[in-house]
Amino acid sequence: MEKGKKIYEGKAKILYETDSPDYLIQYFKDDATAFNAAKKGTINQKGVVNNKISTKIFEFLETKGIPTHFEKMLNDRDMLVKKVTIFPLEVIIRNVAAGSLSKILNIPEGTKLACPVLEFCYKADSLNDPMINEYHIRALGLATEEELETVKKYTFQINELMKKFFAAIGVDLIDFKIEFGKFKGKIILADEISPDTCRLWEKETGRKLDKDRFRRDLGGIEEAYQEILSRVTK
Ligand code: ADP
Ligand code: UDP
Repeated sequence: MEKGKKIYEGKAKILYETDSPDYLIQYFKDDATAFNAAKKGTINQKGVVNNKISTKIFEFLETKGIPTHFEKMLNDRDMLVKKVTIFPLEVIIRNVAAGSLSKILNIPEGTKLACPVLEFCYKADSLNDPMINEYHIRALGLATEEELETVKKYTFQINELMKKFFAAIGVDLIDFKIEFGKFKGKIILADEISPDTCRLWEKETGRKLDKDRFRRDLGGIEEAYQEILSRVTK
């Protein structure tokens, strides 16, 4: 597939057209942002690492029957994907309290939640991606009832699959964000799944192996991302 015109540049990735209208190339950058881009930086080799980690996870999910936009890793930073119409939703699952949930509800980080918590945020940078609920989604027409049910069904399945996937490599899946889109009338998982979009804590030590090292200036960011890569590719 030839890389064509750049159609979108986001905070972490660039999308390019290909010679087919059904496919895009997703290029992974080293740029890192946090707090709705108030904090900016770069993480050396992040693009390469996230492309490879996402590839592994998409391949794993596909084998378990989850439809994804993943077609092929083309090289270190380029992933060939199906071109979807993205639902403007960040779909978040939390297994353990951390980040904004800990803050909003004053629950200590690390508190196990009795059941997975599903949250939605409206993808709108100008509004700081506000949290919304299913009524907002229906009322604003961001997804139909049936689409919402499918998104939720896949999301809980993905959580169970990923919890096991990471547990097998000694990592606790604390929380994560995913995005879905529509391709030829079908809902499929899109975007990326990586230490940028998941909280991943080493089981034995509780060491953070994710973007919180960047958000909180904990140091050792590159090493943490590499650690996840080496475990998922073992
Ligand atoms: P942001 O837009 O939040 O800055 P990125 O830098 O990760 O984030 O940009 C990637 C963009 O591409 C996101 O807006 C995401 O919703 C969108 N996207 C992800 N996968 C696909 C796909 N298969 N087809 C079309 N758009 C996609
Ligand atoms: N997340 C993400 N992109 C966002 C917001 C959140 O990938 O724009 C991920 C984040 O990495 C974490 C989960 O979603 O794994 C929950 O994030 P939280 O609401 O705690 O947000 P934070 O306080 O980290 O911004």
